Amino acid sequence: MKAESYQIQEIAQIVHAQSFLSAPSATISHLVIDSRKLNDPEYALFFAIRGQRDGHQFIEHAYRNGMRNFVVSTLGLEEKYPHANFLVVEDVLLALQQLAAEHRRTKHLKVIGITGSNGKTIVKEWLYQLLGIDHQVVRSPKSYNSQIGVPLSVWQIGQEHNLGIFEAGISTDGEMEKLAAIIAPDVGILTNIREAHDEGFENKTEKLKEKLKLFQEVELLIYSPDYIAADVLGLPGKTKFTWSTQQAADLRVIAIEHGPSNTVLKALYKNEEISCVIPFTDAASIENAIICWATMLAIGYPVHDIGDRLGKLARVGMRLQLINGIDNCSIIDDSYSADLSSLSIALDFLNQQNQHVKKTLILSDLVETGKLDEVLYREISSLLQEKKIDRLIGIGEHISAHQHLFALKEKSFYKDTTDFIEQLLNEHFANETILVKGARKFEFEKIIKRLTQKIHDTVLEINLNALLGNLQFYRSKLSSGVKTMAMVKAFSYGSGTFEIANLLQYHKVDYLAVAYVDEGIALRKAGIGLPIMVMSPEPSAFDAMVRFKLEPEIYSIELLQNFLHFLPTDVKDFPIHLKLDTGMHRLGIELVDLSLLLPLLKENQKLKVVSIFTHLVASDDSQHDEFTEYQVSTYQTMYTSIVEILNDKPIRHVLNTSGITRWPNMQFDMVRIGIGLYGFDTALPNGRGLQTVAVLKTTISQIKLIAPNETVGYGRKGVLPNGGKIATVKIGYADGYSRALGSGVGKMLVAGKLVPTVGAICMDMCMLEVTGLHVKVGDEVMVFNEEHTIADVAKAIHTIPYEILTNVSQRVKRVYYYE
Ligand SMILES: *Cc1c(COP(=O)(O)O)cnc(C)c1O
Repeated sequence: MKAESYQIQEIAQIVHAQSFLSAPSATISHLVIDSRKLNDPEYALFFAIRGQRDGHQFIEHAYRNGMRNFVVSTLGLEEKYPHANFLVVEDVLLALQQLAAEHRRTKHLKVIGITGSNGKTIVKEWLYQLLGIDHQVVRSPKSYNSQIGVPLSVWQIGQEHNLGIFEAGISTDGEMEKLAAIIAPDVGILTNIREAHDEGFENKTEKLKEKLKLFQEVELLIYSPDYIAADVLGLPGKTKFTWSTQQAADLRVIAIEHGPSNTVLKALYKNEEISCVIPFTDAASIENAIICWATMLAIGYPVHDIGDRLGKLARVGMRLQLINGIDNCSIIDDSYSADLSSLSIALDFLNQQNQHVKKTLILSDLVETGKLDEVLYREISSLLQEKKIDRLIGIGEHISAHQHLFALKEKSFYKDTTDFIEQLLNEHFANETILVKGARKFEFEKIIKRLTQKIHDTVLEINLNALLGNLQFYRSKLSSGVKTMAMVKAFSYGSGTFEIANLLQYHKVDYLAVAYVDEGIALRKAGIGLPIMVMSPEPSAFDAMVRFKLEPEIYSIELLQNFLHFLPTDVKDFPIHLKLDTGMHRLGIELVDLSLLLPLLKENQKLKVVSIFTHLVASDDSQHDEFTEYQVSTYQTMYTSIVEILNDKPIRHVLNTSGITRWPNMQFDMVRIGIGLYGFDTALPNGRGLQTVAVLKTTISQIKLIAPNETVGYGRKGVLPNGGKIATVKIGYADGYSRALGSGVGKMLVAGKLVPTVGAICMDMCMLEVTGLHVKVGDEVMVFNEEHTIADVAKAIHTIPYEILTNVSQRVKRVYYYE
């Protein structure tokens, strides 16, 4: 994130800091909030923000990575690091916001500010596609819309930009005023107001009032009366422009005609009928497109121009897919967009997925308006260096013409995609992670096809953003300083192995836990360095456990004795975790065992007890709250006895997912999040606040018409009394689709309709009734998704989501995506 530079002394004034400057002439051009390596750390200003984790803890690391300029809230650091500059302020986050607001104040560009419950990012990206044609646009990267994201976005404004498009999101009262001062929009867009993310607000009106604060000073406000009740008076904005599908408005949408792959929108505008065609069919895209349409009209574009541009809208191409490739490569597919900020995001993802040492980038020409080729490719070159790319394959005339700028050992260039594919045999790929990133017109999907293994038509799609969102959801409930252990046992509840662990590691969870040593070894081999607890450490695997630095859960005296016996005499302080049984009666040391446990621990130098924990049997169920309290008090009693002989205070942890939701006072030092990461929590009504992570899809292999007297499948179990149409789909009990779901008990979504299974579920396939539906071979079928959920499937066969998710067999390909 580059802007023009500021002198450190100027910044000290802007943020009202007490400054300790060893190098008063330092120049700042990047603002950073984490301590990772940068290409030119001397120009970075590190903000030690106190959030879930205290940024002050990372100063040491940042300093080692070459950073020398810090905004902090404690005195005394200047003595510890005499060669650095320190700006001391009361509130570091506020300082970041003040600096961004000042930066914005000095820039005279038009700014569009967007807020609302949904659609902010898509509307922002689409306006960028629509307006980037005749403007130099600066916009929020990804969905940077928070108290931290907004200042970092606004900081990117440079001399060359004449239009800014920024989004703002809030989670509680009082936040919007700060964002409004930083974005200072001229045009405001309120996308919609829904119940989503309601928690931090009294009610919908409160939320609306807070959101509208973004628009206090706007010239023009674009909104829909469908979301704002008529009695809300005093809407901000000198001019208003409204859109609606239900009532009178400046843009009154009168018809939405669905085609197979596009939608025709008709509307009344200034008493005339106008229309446009958009290449999308889903409800969310339609609403987002209407908002863009209204915006373009409101800012004065001619009706015809707008129609043309809307027709070319592209799906927001920030969706990165991670797929298994040929010869043990991992492929990251980002073949939809190519600009600097999305390249930087994709490279971060590449680094986060570090299962292979070698990192390769296949990159097309970038279409970055407003930059000379020479400057652009020089910037890309330094980005590749910073992100440690080993190998570059450049495709396109522009990148080829600037190949001398890339200082990589392995590089090759091709004039276009066809040229590359023709010569593919000359390029050797093995054991590397390959990021394939190209502008749409380069059709890199052809390259993806050549590099990936054939995907079995049944796939489990894992949305890594949703998983992160869920992690953040639970983190936001933790008291400051409470650590997180992520439970990634059973292939991360069936969702994957190292892909998820890599993501969690990158986002700094403190601990991982697996069930068996094998699972831990697989993670170590994939480059996971986090501490890993093994819950069932079988003695036959002790040796491997020690070699791979895996930490056993000790759940019995016998296991402890075995492990002590195994450890060579010269080992010191090997980390272990004590599991106490306070009522689960599964694994764990009981109160009566303490008399045997304590002497063993007391005399021992070989071991270090790093944590002591217990597992709650009914943290989600208010019926058993008394028992939960009893468990925790037993735990505390036992903990106290153990600590007395240890001379140490091991980490205390008791809460699982539902425990975090229901028992905020029992967080102790750490919590263990499992199923919540994957989007389930029985303690939350309808899983409110959580996002769907896993979607299981299959396809139709054949369609048949069945007469009234015919039967379907084994044992003649399937009968359609009036005859009808069935579709055979490629999923069966060997894929994890239980036989109990046969004969109509299970349902799947076909063409948006929920349809029942017919007859028995077979090993590799099953049949669905699709009478009356327009379907064909190859059509996609949803086994579960956000609409027909895992919880629905579980309920149909009287089990729990955990079982449905972990049963999806390993032969079903996992595809990960990140947007
Ligand atoms: C699996 C497990 C968890 C996580 O439980 P969730 O309900 O999935 O959050 C926590 N602690 C232990 C000991 C576990 O085995």
